[in-house]
This record gives sequence, structure tokens and C-alpha cells, in this order.
Amino acid sequence: MEFSGYHFISHNANLPIFKDENSQEFLNQNEVILDRKNIHKKYSYLDKKIEKSVFIKNAGNVDSITMANMMLKVAKKKGATFKQAKIQNLITTSHSFEILLEDRSTIDCDQIVLAAGPFLDQMVELIDLKLPIWNTLQRKFITPDPLHVIPKKMPFTIYSDPQKLEWENDERAYLKSNDKLKWMTDIMPGAIHIKPESGNRIKMGWAYSTKHENPRWQIQNDDYFPEIVMRGASKFIPGLKKYIDQIPSPIIQYGGFYIRTKENWPLIGPLKIENAFVVGALAGFGSMMTCAAGQLCAQHMTDQELPWYAPFFHPNRYDDPKMKKYLSNVNIDGQL
Ligand SMILES: Cc1cc2nc3c(=O)[nH]c(=O)nc-3n(C[C@H](O)[C@H](O)[C@H](O)COP(=O)(O)OP(=O)(O)OC[C@H]3O[C@@H](n4cnc5c(N)ncnc54)[C@H](O)[C@@H]3O)c2cc1C
Repeated sequence: MEFSGYHFISHNANLPIFKDENSQEFLNQNEVILDRKNIHKKYSYLDKKIEKSVFIKNAGNVDSITMANMMLKVAKKKGATFKQAKIQNLITTSHSFEILLEDRSTIDCDQIVLAAGPFLDQMVELIDLKLPIWNTLQRKFITPDPLHVIPKKMPFTIYSDPQKLEWENDERAYLKSNDKLKWMTDIMPGAIHIKPESGNRIKMGWAYSTKHENPRWQIQNDDYFPEIVMRGASKFIPGLKKYIDQIPSPIIQYGGFYIRTKENWPLIGPLKIENAFVVGALAGFGSMMTCAAGQLCAQHMTDQELPWYAPFFHPNRYDDPKMKKYLSNVNIDGQL
């Protein structure tokens, strides 16, 4: 892991970003700056009017593919076997499961973990269950930075404020008159993010889509996405304005489905069928929390003592009156 940090910023010094950000423990571990001059002195590429800077030190980059390969290697050493095939059906008997694979082979097991990512819905349907989850299509893109606007050592930077994109008057009027495009003049959510990439490039993302979609393997590029993100990002890194009208090429756009719950907390633990478990709804934070999610599920499966946070991620939390009350007061979903 490279500890390059996560840097949350806002134009509003009073905007709460983390629930415990005023606690001594938080302040001891992280760097909070609440005055414009000092923020600009330290982070000169940011807009001069940024009023709040929260730098999380214990954060950065993980090479998720290397990490996954390493874990698979360790698991195999401990006796795990690996099989790659599409699951076509799941048959439940009183105490076990039969997994039917596309190659017509079967696997019998006494416990199963459903972890099919965006296809989780289809997987739980096979055992006649339904979960309160949905998919949205989200994207990121990588572009060269020929003007060196973004310092190579810049932390992963997240702008916390919702915003309205800036348009010329005639552009705004045109967009407003077009039913398919007028959303570009509405208030957009916070959490647009940007980080430097190798080869003098930058990676940018903004999970603003709220449309519920059926997952699929092939997705088309969205011609508007890079410009929308560049426009949004230039609000807190003004040097990016130079790229709005002509984003440097080649632009590499990619995307996938965030599967999520209403409050955007994952589902980890036992399902309503005995010995069936789930690890899912990891939305846009799945690479970061995958190890902890796997560990929590394993603790459920092996009847170990559960950590304090287990009820918050329990798949049946919506039936628990205490949790239901708690959930009704959650009003930020932390979508990134
Ligand atoms: C564009 C984008 C950028 C992201 N960036 C980040 C990031 O920077 N940091 C971060 O923490 N998270 C990020 N995420 C989120 C992260 O990728 C996901 O949360 C995470 O991959 C979810 O893990 P999962 O194991 O639940 O699902 P997946 O990773 O989707 O794995 C599910 C697996 O199940 C398999 N599967 C599905 N159906 C079947 C079937 N019928 N038979 C057999 N196998 C099946 C699939 O092939 C897949 O391998 C990003 C997501 C997207 C879309």
C-alpha cells in the first residue's frame, strides 16, 4: 500500500465531513486546516477560497489485483481449491446446497457465500430471496495532464460540496431547453474526486448517476462524462479550466456498476436461509473494505465473537426495530 493520503476539501468551513472530526482522537491522527491562507500555502493548486481541508493520513492506494492474487495464493496454500465457471443454479436441500455450473458440473457444500457483485440480485433469486439493493452505472476516466496542473504527489482529493456546474448563459439556456440534458444545470452531488496517475496523467471520477440499471458486461462510453467532471473539478482546482473545452487525449474512460443499499452500507452476514451468507452491496468502496468484509463474513460463518459494527452490516438489519430507527436518521450516504 502506498500511503499517499485522502484529502477532503470544502468551500464551507462549517460543512461536516466526518462525524467525529472534532474529537481529539481524530485530530491527533489527521490534519485539519480551517483557514484559507494556510490551506492555499500548503495546497497551492487548490482554489484560494477553499475553507476546509481534512487530510486523512492512514489512506492511499492499494494495487487490488496484486492483493487479490496474493490472497488467492495464501488460500490455495491452506487447502482452498479454485474453480472458474458461471453459476447457473443453486439448489437448496435441508442442510446443504448444490451449485450447478455452466459446464454441467456440480459442487455440493454445506455453506455458501453469495458474492456476485452487481449480479447479486440474480444470485439471491435462485434461492427465492430478495434483497433491498440496486445498481447504478458509474464511471471514471484517465487523461494526460500536459500542463502539469496536478502535482505528481497530490493525495487522492475529494471535493465534498454539492455544486451547480458553471456554464455560459447561452449554454445554460440551451441545456435547460433540452429534456435530456437539463440535468446538467441542476445541483450535482459532492464527492467528485481526482488523483495523479503514472505517466503524467490524472484519474477523475464522480458517482453522480442515480438511475437504477440492470447490470451488463459491456458498457458504452458516455461522451459528456469527461467534460462534466472536468467542469466540476475546475471549481476546486482552477488550473483544470484550461482543459474543459479540449480535454487532452487519449481519454481512457471506464465504468461499472455500483450495487448499493439505500443508506449505502454493505450487506455482510447470514441470509434468511440457514448456512447461506452474503458479501455484497459494496458500491464504490469495495476494494477498500474487501478484506474486512471477508473477515466479518468468516466470523459469522464460524460462529466467532462478532465485532461491534456487525449489526450495521447485517443483511437482516431492516427487520431489527433498533436498527430501523437508527437507519431512519442516516441522511448522508457517503457515495464516492
Ligand atoms: C468504475 C469503478 C471504480 C471503482 N473504484 C473503486 C476504488 O477506487 N476503490 C474502491 O474501494 N472501490 C472501487 N470500486 C468499487 C469496487 O470495485 C466494488 O465495490 C467491488 O469490486 C465489489 O466487490 P464484489 O466482490 O462484491 O463484486 P465484484 O468485484 O463485481 O465481483 C463479483 C464476482 O462475481 C462473479 N459473478 C457474478 N455472477 C456470477 C455467476 N453467475 N457465476 C459465477 N460468477 C459470477 C463476477 O464475475 C465477479 O468476478 C469501483 C467500482 C467501479 C464500478
